[in-house]
Amino acid sequence: MPTKYPKLTKEEYDHVYMKIYYYMNRDRLLARAKRPVKCEKCNKIMPYSSLCYHIKKCHTKEEKPMRNDLKKEDGKFVLTFD
Ligand SMILES: [Zn+2]
Repeated sequence: MPTKYPKLTKEEYDHVYMKIYYYMNRDRLLARAKRPVKCEKCNKIMPYSSLCYHIKKCHTKEEKPMRNDLKKEDGKFVLTFD
């Protein structure tokens, strides 16, 4: 029996659901993202939507290991094709 709704996979359904959820609750979600919060580490006040990025950027110290092929080397490079 044909239905008038398209058949969706779970992922497609969730995607459509979230789009509709966002559309229906847009003002509430934006108000939530915009509300000012205080960073616990530096007492800076910022919108809630910026907090996650701020913590990641300013309070997380992650030293990335230097990639081998990006090491700076001095000297002349001669291409050889042997
Ligand atoms: Zn901070």
